Amino acid sequence: MATILDGKKIADMRMEILKEEIEDSGLYPRLATVIVGSDPASQMYVRMKHRACEKTGIGSVGMELAGDSTTEQILQTILLLNRDADIDGILLQLPLPSQVDTARVITAVSPDKDVDGFHPFNLGLLFSGRPVFAPCTPKGIMTLLSAYSIETAGTRAVVVGRSIDVGRPMAALLTNADATVTICHSKSRNLIEEIQRADILVSAIGRAHYITRDMVSPGAVVVDVGINQVNGKLTGDVDFEQVQQVASAITPVPGGVGPMTIATLMENTFRAAGMRSCDSVW
Ligand code: NAP
Repeated sequence: MATILDGKKIADMRMEILKEEIEDSGLYPRLATVIVGSDPASQMYVRMKHRACEKTGIGSVGMELAGDSTTEQILQTILLLNRDADIDGILLQLPLPSQVDTARVITAVSPDKDVDGFHPFNLGLLFSGRPVFAPCTPKGIMTLLSAYSIETAGTRAVVVGRSIDVGRPMAALLTNADATVTICHSKSRNLIEEIQRADILVSAIGRAHYITRDMVSPGAVVVDVGINQVNGKLTGDVDFEQVQQVASAITPVPGGVGPMTIATLMENTFRAAGMRSCDSVW
């Protein structure tokens, strides 16, 4: 049976350490969250992020905008937060409503407050191999692998999904960590064969139980990013019960990647506060 990569446990441990680091630093990091509309899942994620702020001693403010807000209205809020000297990090809860130009809003966030790491400047740093703020989900996955001493160098990694928040930055981080990386997506030919070649498989598709036992090479490390609702229950992209019988290590859903994402957001926010406090030059 596979080792369970317990993201909840590792995230809790890291947040405890972070809390002490923040206390010792004399800094008072502050995160602003921006949510547009009343999507229940987005509201739940934002609440979880505020709770994590409380746990770690990070101040937080929540900006709530109406679901019919225009791009210009959201930009005004972002610009106010960019100028607010008391705010170290800005988290824009995605997805934004369809009428909004999401790319424009993301690009408006000041790169030194972009704790989600989605700004093209920060993605550029990541892809050039010297990330400052890497996106929280893939960075959290790298931390989780490292916490379990899982070697990436020289391995064959397959990332399924090419989104800008998960798939692509995940591939960049794995490449930076000396894995040989393949990115797959809905147009990939021979998808199953590609997946079967993985020593490390990261699934970020958003389809329940898509990754089945026969797709996974014996001994592979399987990271399940997917969050899907099936009959009111949270489940990942991976058929956990079956795949854990062939994998060497696997993340559960819930309790795997999700908590690591939030812990990483807290770490990025503390880092932003530290850099801003000493006017660090990038
Ligand atoms: P996304 O933007 O919808 O991207 C999904 C990707 O999966 C796309 O690249 C798509 O390919 C690919 N894909 C879809 N169906 C496929 C198939 N049958 N075969 C191969 N590839 C397929 O989603 P996302 O933002 O990356 O999120 C992915 C999942 O992770 C979602 O369930 C999301 O809720 C979850 N998530 C979890 C966390 C966490 O902290 N745990 C954080 C972020 C996201 P194309 O590009 O060709 O369309």
